[in-house]
Amino acid sequence: MLKENYEQVKRNIEAACKRAGRDVSEITLIAVSKTKPLSDVETLIRETDAHDFGENKVQELTDKYEHASVPVNWHLIGHLQTNKVKYIVDKVCMIHSVDSFHLAKAIEKEAAKKNVVVKILIEVNVAGEETKFGVSVEETENLVNQIKDLPHVRICGLMTIAPFADNPEDNRGYFRKLKDLLLDIKSKNIDNVNMNVLSMGMTNDYEVAIEEGATMVRVGTGIFGARNYNLS
Ligand SMILES: *Cc1c(COP(=O)(O)O)cnc(C)c1O
Repeated sequence: MLKENYEQVKRNIEAACKRAGRDVSEITLIAVSKTKPLSDVETLIRETDAHDFGENKVQELTDKYEHASVPVNWHLIGHLQTNKVKYIVDKVCMIHSVDSFHLAKAIEKEAAKKNVVVKILIEVNVAGEETKFGVSVEETENLVNQIKDLPHVRICGLMTIAPFADNPEDNRGYFRKLKDLLLDIKSKNIDNVNMNVLSMGMTNDYEVAIEEGATMVRVGTGIFGARNYNLS
């Protein structure tokens, strides 16, 4: 089941790439394993080409990190509190959810202690939803300029969580807006800043996101099935 789901998502990614005239090698599929057992992660790694997994809680990520019997590229995709930074800076391959200088400074401090450089994305609240984390489109470049000089933090691009939409087409404009913002910041050639990663698109809308330039898509339900928060 897991393997079939994963491979179906890969085929959908391929088809979206074809429509958009892109190469599939440009896309990293992040399997979002939150609330799901580590055994699901290990099964996917054993049976498919999956390497990259996303978690939105620090405790769950570190638990899985500690018990995993195989190497996993862990991505922290959820909101991060400064007091939890120390648990993950040396365990994640990327933090997708940096939305303040305060948080970036906390990452810098812990990364320096552990002598690692942490790759991050700036989380942008493209749709301006009040309930969501993320910096506004207008504030993004300013935040990039604040963070760029932190030696143990490396900005690699932008991330967004689009609104929940039954029709993925409803989010196309937001994805396009994030891509435009990425290109705009990239064109300024800011020192120490890469603008190559665009993390956008989830189960409902990753194909549209790819058509609009996503380089990382974060798919949970489409691979692991529905999450049951009551049982977990
Ligand atoms: C849960 C989550 C996802 C995956 O959501 P699905 O709709 O299950 O694919 C992607 N990104 C973030 C930040 C999430 O928290």
